Amino acid sequence: MSQAPATSLQDIISHAKEYGFVFPSSEIYDGLQAVYDYGQNGVELKNNLKTVWWKAMTQLHDNIVGIDAAIFMHPLTWKASGHVDGFNDPMIDNKDSKKRYRADQLLEGKAEEYQAAGQDEKAQNLLNEMGRLLSADDLAGVRELIISEGIKCPVSGTANWTDVRQFNLMFSTQVGSVAEDANMIYLRPETAQGIFVNFLNVQKSGRMKVPFGIAQIGKAFRNEIVARQFTFRMREFEQMEMQFFVRPGSEMEWYQSWKEARMKFHQAIGLPTASLKFHDHEKLAHYANAAVDIEYQFPFGFREIEGIHSRTDFDLRNHQELSKKKQQYFDSEINQNYIPYVVETSVGADRLFLATFCNAYTRETVGEGESQKERMYLKLHPALAPVKAAVLPLVKKDGLAEKAQAVTQSLKSSFRTVYDDNAAIGKRYTRQDLIGTPYCIAVDYQTMEDDTVTIRHRDSMEQERVAISELKSKIGYEVAMERILEAI
Ligand code: ATP
Repeated sequence: MSQAPATSLQDIISHAKEYGFVFPSSEIYDGLQAVYDYGQNGVELKNNLKTVWWKAMTQLHDNIVGIDAAIFMHPLTWKASGHVDGFNDPMIDNKDSKKRYRADQLLEGKAEEYQAAGQDEKAQNLLNEMGRLLSADDLAGVRELIISEGIKCPVSGTANWTDVRQFNLMFSTQVGSVAEDANMIYLRPETAQGIFVNFLNVQKSGRMKVPFGIAQIGKAFRNEIVARQFTFRMREFEQMEMQFFVRPGSEMEWYQSWKEARMKFHQAIGLPTASLKFHDHEKLAHYANAAVDIEYQFPFGFREIEGIHSRTDFDLRNHQELSKKKQQYFDSEINQNYIPYVVETSVGADRLFLATFCNAYTRETVGEGESQKERMYLKLHPALAPVKAAVLPLVKKDGLAEKAQAVTQSLKSSFRTVYDDNAAIGKRYTRQDLIGTPYCIAVDYQTMEDDTVTIRHRDSMEQERVAISELKSKIGYEVAMERILEAI
């Protein structure tokens, strides 16, 4: 058995579309840039990822609870959070190709080139210089750096650049039916603020004691300047965020422990340690005193899937100022009132989906000599797979189909099981491999005699004979979310 050539993003996009995982949005109208729809298998995988994250937060921790806040929020929320004034990306246009780029991404691309050439120090110096210029809001300096590094537009091949300008990423819309009365509001660019404005509601109604956390899964919207790389950078996407409220001064300890806990989570869902790494931020966001990304090695390089940020009391303090409502907590252990500090973990459901999907995509050459062929399957953790088991009668006649349907029926309420009697059995195995089904159950003539079936394992293709009465517990054990939660 040998490994096939490296997977490209195009392989991933094609597979995702062909097997019902991800479709371009409104495709019949030629799609909408950076917006995608999840298909019948994609939604199952994505829901499984969301469920395991939700349980890892709210079920494994006594002091973390969830909420589901609205997408629309009072416009002052985004003033207080700093998004109205500061949620910008630096953009630059090439005058010849008329293409627009994110200035920081052009520089990061150059640093990656240095790294690839073994010039790590040069790469780091460039990133440091970029961080310094962006923190000082020195946009002219950023432009000069792009020019002095000899960065050219990949389309026109020229360095004929405009000035660097800031571009706010928030989408706005209007509420109210009469135009004159209408108020402009934003589609939330992050879910975190829904948690901050509910901090006291949850703390009081749940009698929560600091340290405690609030978790949320929901849609967020950003008008990304450069939207490419499939579901990695979308304009409408989903976040899974948890804000952990702590005593001021203890935030660095919590930051460290969440950093480790989150890395463990990604390993537990099956992402290999070698494909994950931490990346400290060169430029801290306006709200953070420490920040790190967890990056995954996509086919296009190591990129962020999760951010862990120590947000200080920035958000709650600003909400207190603007709303004139106290956002304090009385800590009875030390007899003090304070605004808690916050450590945030923020992972994109779509990026986690893409990482999981890329990691699962497996091509292998199997067999020897003449019978050698390429085999393709999705090596998903059984608990994440869209379908857990497929029941396949060897033939349709002699009562085998009815028997297989009865087996399907008996498993359905425990885990997602499908029935398939269409085409030769080898083809049906392949069909399940392509969507990552971990177990295929074949019903044959022996089944009719002794009520046993064969289970075919997706990864090894090995087959074992088991009694029908054992299927539920045997497969049920392997596909349970518990397997992942126990490993965290
Ligand atoms: P990037 O630097 O890649 O734009 P970010 O640092 O702005 O990301 P955060 O604001 O930290 O991202 O958001 C937290 C998480 O939300 C990210 O780690 C990512 O998984 C997800 N996310 C952010 N923007 C997008 C997007 N446009 N499409 C899909 N997921 C996103």
